[in-house]
Amino acid sequence: MENEYTIVMRDLHKSYNGKVVVDGVNIHVKRGEIYGFVGPNGAGKSTVMKMLMNLTRPDSGEITVWGEKIGDDSFECLKRIGSIIESPYFYEKITGRQNLNLHCEYMGFHNKERIDEVLRLVGLQEIEGKTVSHYSMGMKQRLAIARAILARPELLVLDEPINALDPEGIREMRMLFKRINRECNTTILISSHILSEIEQIADTIGIIQNGRLLQETAMSEIHKRQTDYIELAVEDAGLACCLLEEKLGIRDIKAVSGHVVEIYDPAVSVGEIAAVLVWEDMVILGIGRKQKSLEDYFFQALQGKGEAS
Ligand code: ADP
Repeated sequence: MENEYTIVMRDLHKSYNGKVVVDGVNIHVKRGEIYGFVGPNGAGKSTVMKMLMNLTRPDSGEITVWGEKIGDDSFECLKRIGSIIESPYFYEKITGRQNLNLHCEYMGFHNKERIDEVLRLVGLQEIEGKTVSHYSMGMKQRLAIARAILARPELLVLDEPINALDPEGIREMRMLFKRINRECNTTILISSHILSEIEQIADTIGIIQNGRLLQETAMSEIHKRQTDYIELAVEDAGLACCLLEEKLGIRDIKAVSGHVVEIYDPAVSVGEIAAVLVWEDMVILGIGRKQKSLEDYFFQALQGKGEAS
């Protein structure tokens, strides 16, 4: 069972100056998946990822990667991980390629063709002559991604890797991560403070808030539960609810405001609803099928739940 998971974190705790920033976090990242680690700024994502990379120590709890407990003698294990943690550091007075060369030497990875390949993959091949001091934030972020994937890691740990990019750059990098995941079977743990940024690529989502992991759910499960519904706008929402309950026997219906009704009965069609209301001389201001966004889903799931097991 255990080796189904690349990363397992058990009951992690961390405080800074008496302030609890990671509070009993349990995380399970399956082999070969993309795990989206989401939470507002200050929720504790970077701290968890730093503990994973042994850059800071948990006060209690443990982290295993490929079954091996992370600690000061995990060098070999950490070498198999590519990472971006907080703002990546580069030597500013040399070019991106020279920075990647240095990284190769540090990692004992000698494959100069791979440098060309990663520069191309992240779209930096055109700016060969530039020193890093002349890079924009977005270019530095691309270089950080290039460095993280350079030595063909089996696991990628990416802390907010795309926040300095424009929408097109975000899309490109998302596709790149997906490709690396599918083609190289690389497990990816990626954090973001924007759920919609990674919901399209993640297989599992973990939500952290105030240092506590609130939910850890497979996207397939979320899609199953993400409900389709019909939204209806009328002059009198209460009256429309009564009529639809009475005439069509709909039970799962609610007036969300004086004018808007939501109908969750999958058996009933927009046409049937419209026909009943027109028959009853009600004016329909709007009607159509909608789907709850992932934000709505989590918001609903967390209300009344507080936290996940
Ligand atoms: P996130 O990555 O989700 O934005 P962080 O893990 O960076 O969150 O931070 C979580 C909390 O821990 C924040 O309140 C932050 O100020 C605090 N924190 C992080 N690192 C340190 C540190 N080295 N010393 C003191 N407080 C810290």
